[in-house]
Amino acid sequence: MEFASEMERTLAEVFGFHSFRLHQRELVEAVLSGRDVFAVMPTGGGKSLCYQLPARLLPGAAVVVSPLIALMKDQVDNARATGLDARAFNSVSSPAERAEIRRALSLERLDLLYVSPERLLRPDFLEELAGYRLSFFAIDEAHCVSEWGHDFRPDYLGLSVLAERFPDKSLAAFTATATRRVAEDIGARLGLRSPLTIRASFNRPNLHYQVRPRSKNPEKQIMEIIELYPGESGLVYRATRKKVEETAAGLARRGLSVRPYHAGMGDEDRRAAQDDFQRDRCQVIVATVAFGMGIDKSNVRFVIHGDLPKNLESYYQETGRAGRDGEPAHCALFYGPQEMVLWRRFAEELAEDQLRRAALEQLRHMIDFVQRDGCRRRALLAYFGEKLPGKDCGGCDVCRGEVERFEATVPAQMALSAMVRTGGRFGAGHLADILVGADSAKIRDHGHHQLPTYGVGRAYDRQFWRDLMAALLARGLAWNSGDERYPTLAAAPRARPLLRGEEKFYVLRTAVKERVRRRQEEAAPDRPPLSEELLAAFKALRRSLAEAAGVPPYVVFSDRSLREMAQIKPESPDQFLRVTGVGLHKLEKFGQAFMALVSAHLEAHPDQRP
Ligand code: ADP
Ligand code: ZN
Repeated sequence: MEFASEMERTLAEVFGFHSFRLHQRELVEAVLSGRDVFAVMPTGGGKSLCYQLPARLLPGAAVVVSPLIALMKDQVDNARATGLDARAFNSVSSPAERAEIRRALSLERLDLLYVSPERLLRPDFLEELAGYRLSFFAIDEAHCVSEWGHDFRPDYLGLSVLAERFPDKSLAAFTATATRRVAEDIGARLGLRSPLTIRASFNRPNLHYQVRPRSKNPEKQIMEIIELYPGESGLVYRATRKKVEETAAGLARRGLSVRPYHAGMGDEDRRAAQDDFQRDRCQVIVATVAFGMGIDKSNVRFVIHGDLPKNLESYYQETGRAGRDGEPAHCALFYGPQEMVLWRRFAEELAEDQLRRAALEQLRHMIDFVQRDGCRRRALLAYFGEKLPGKDCGGCDVCRGEVERFEATVPAQMALSAMVRTGGRFGAGHLADILVGADSAKIRDHGHHQLPTYGVGRAYDRQFWRDLMAALLARGLAWNSGDERYPTLAAAPRARPLLRGEEKFYVLRTAVKERVRRRQEEAAPDRPPLSEELLAAFKALRRSLAEAAGVPPYVVFSDRSLREMAQIKPESPDQFLRVTGVGLHKLEKFGQAFMALVSAHLEAHPDQRP
């Protein structure tokens, strides 16, 4: 096709990419040929290129529908940093900006016009748009059109008028939703006309999954992960506002640059927190799930869950915010018995039968995910109806052998017996005290030092017993006989075969191994080693350039680009263009400054000259 060579050239010169990622070429070609497309691709899959590249090549402006104004600003900054002519038209654009956008539209100079659905669907705006030359419509976050999705936006329903109002313009819909039900809903609701439909794999090979029981000191556990990534950005999710505050304070006491984020804070504070994070002015955000939708930061190196998420869909979306740039990223999950009890109670209290059953089923999958002794990635993908090819993934704690599975039938019997002998009326802490034979006032008051189980579990520590009881609870062998504030444990009828020795019980024991190693792909034989010193200098420069331009640092260059630069150590424009993510526009804007750092570095370290 006529566009073929132009397509390749634009990919390299404008976007600075050496090749298309999976599915990108097909999607770009379809949009260029005027066909509707519907792409379901995971976060970080490279969806924006699929409409930005055609928008650049086709005459007229592409109209991009995006749900959040905050997100739109970053998208526009990003596109402009690449050298595309992009603008946002929304409720916060000033009259002067609007006038300028109108001029650019009538001069056919604009590549991309970002709009919110409520703006786009205003009759006067649609009318006005019809008078300009447009190339096509792109609908970002298309799952917002589905009531089954997690971010339903009634405004999106109105987008069905586009196909009627602009019958000769193609529609390109994009989403990262993983559920098939939502995906099926989207095409119908938007009125797509026999679209090219792509459903990419939801596997995120660069994410490392790790799951462990939560200890009594979650801040310490969380800090151990963060310390693996000095100075790098990450998110910590906690289930409640109170836990968010506690964890943020705990991490700050340990000297971390951290901000809390939850729905109880004022708009202003939340915006400031988000902004500081986007711009690398604070390293870590501790948040409830309220945080995330408006975040489009590509260099998030870790996502830590301090509590069990409600279901695997949320877990997938939340961990999906890590490693959008394709670089390795770490997803750690710490779970405890409290959330299991709490989520179960929430589910059981749902009035409608169907909803209740669905919620309990989702919880069961979630608990199975943390307790399983098989590949985590396989389980996650299976939940979305996808089969992981090959034997194991090599990128989760189980596949890497960080998890030990060992038989704990006898300890399980001891713990259950302690529950039975105390009438199912005591919490895990007290039961652990009995098992290890602690001398506490509560034990003496209740005469528990005279129980046959007193001290039988001395060989293990209290933490072991707490984890073991969490595992019994998770697998339904024990249940919470109290409430979520004061949980107490009782043996479940299902535990009888285990107590009689007819069943075995296994638990997982995990240990954080040393730093998850960076993917080796960059250490290709023809690439010199990366200089950490140079990388640090690049990051500082990136930050000051970003501050000056009023954009987040990753808009200047992605982490991946900086890492490649610290290997290639480019001293000429030619070499600089070899770095992934460097197009002509970025070469011109930033090349000099970065190459100056390289020259100074090589002067000081002539041995590193490639
Ligand atoms: P999505 O919108 O699907 O979450 P993005 O469009 O934000 O993903 O792309 C994710 C990252 O991948 C960005 O940092 C982008 O620059 C990078 N990227 C996209 N396409 C390519 C490509 N063909 N080669 C290299 N990097 C790419
Ligand atoms: Zn695995």
